[in-house]
Amino acid sequence: MGYLEPAPLLDTENPFEAMMTRFREASQILGLEEEVYNVLKSPAKQVIVSLPITMDDGTIKVFEGYRVIHSTILGPSKGGIRFDPHVSLDEVKALAAWMTWKCAVVDIPYGGAKGGVTCNPRQMSAGEIERLVRSYTTSMIDIFGPDKDIPAPDMGTGPREMAWLMDEYSRTQGMTVNAVVTGKPTVLGGSLGRTEATGRGVMVSALAAMEKLKINPYNATCAVQGFGNVGSWASLLLAERGLKVVSVSDISGAYYNENGIEIDKAVKYRDANKGSLEGFTGAGKISGDELLVLPVDVLVPAAKEDVITHHNAAKIQAKLIVEGANGPTSSKADKIIFEKGISVVPDILANAGGVTVSYFEWVQNRLGYKWTADRVNRRSDRIMKDAFTNVYKTSVEYKVSMRIAAYMVAIDKVAKTYKYRGGY
Ligand code: GLU
Repeated sequence: MGYLEPAPLLDTENPFEAMMTRFREASQILGLEEEVYNVLKSPAKQVIVSLPITMDDGTIKVFEGYRVIHSTILGPSKGGIRFDPHVSLDEVKALAAWMTWKCAVVDIPYGGAKGGVTCNPRQMSAGEIERLVRSYTTSMIDIFGPDKDIPAPDMGTGPREMAWLMDEYSRTQGMTVNAVVTGKPTVLGGSLGRTEATGRGVMVSALAAMEKLKINPYNATCAVQGFGNVGSWASLLLAERGLKVVSVSDISGAYYNENGIEIDKAVKYRDANKGSLEGFTGAGKISGDELLVLPVDVLVPAAKEDVITHHNAAKIQAKLIVEGANGPTSSKADKIIFEKGISVVPDILANAGGVTVSYFEWVQNRLGYKWTADRVNRRSDRIMKDAFTNVYKTSVEYKVSMRIAAYMVAIDKVAKTYKYRGGY
């Protein structure tokens, strides 16, 4: 199908189709040549591996692992590794492409990639996870490298897993190579500020958008879906800037308190309760679906893909949506939300604070030097604000949503670089 033909209207979307619909629309507005469009839409490399792991009970279980390099046009590819039961090649492909656009929007010299293993880390012991990480790393030894492809944490992985990955990679090279992965513990060369970086970027871009919409943060309410790394840090930092966070949620359900939830207490409770908010008494319980349609000023979906769809988009009451998760809004929902006049700071902009500080971590590792938290935060805040301004301006100039504007900024940059570099 030629790319000028309208995209098929499907009732359900997988993340790859959701990404492609926006990519196609932005490319059409930019007037991108069809052959360049074809180059940019195709992932550069897709690797699938089988990972046989000895479980603690002595049985051998085979897991499937993926790494998709979407693009290396702007530089070495960059992107996290997801451990989740729903991981599939299609999902990893979409997430890899989103990393390409994300790095281009914040103007850091990386291409995009993503990895994943279909597994349920909540039901695995630390030893089983360690063997899985080491086995995945060995299987990807020709893919990873500080100048080739640099992984990082994503859903279900964190600093602990990145430390094992760095160690396993370093063993094969016969030397310590800390720049091969970001999001490491700070003692192993992890950057100060990396843990909170994605949530901080969500806060910075939310405040920038609120300024444009003339919403005073001290009079504003907010609901945050997801209380993992991104959601909890975004909640804490938004509350610190004056917003009243009335609702938060995790897989145990959603919690609502019209007077505002004490986020630091919720974080302490979660940390003492095996990572779950189950039983939290600082708020009443509501359903996860109710959280999304609360009468708040700002809604932050920071959990997973495809939660705002054409089924619930019309009921959303927030004035501003800031996407902490990757792909939380389906492309059909985009239209409904745009027509309702709700502003959206899209994922590839709003959650780019994480990869920005990953870039700083890589720079520090290569310099053999450590920056202060203050330097990291100042520089990442500036990058996020500049990226927001650029996307906002484009959206006003072309009269498009900030999502399409963000894709336009990103695609234009990658396409121009591709043309300079040339091909066969
Ligand atoms: N997994 C994060 C993301 O989706 C971070 C990626 C990175 O730091 O490379 O943006």
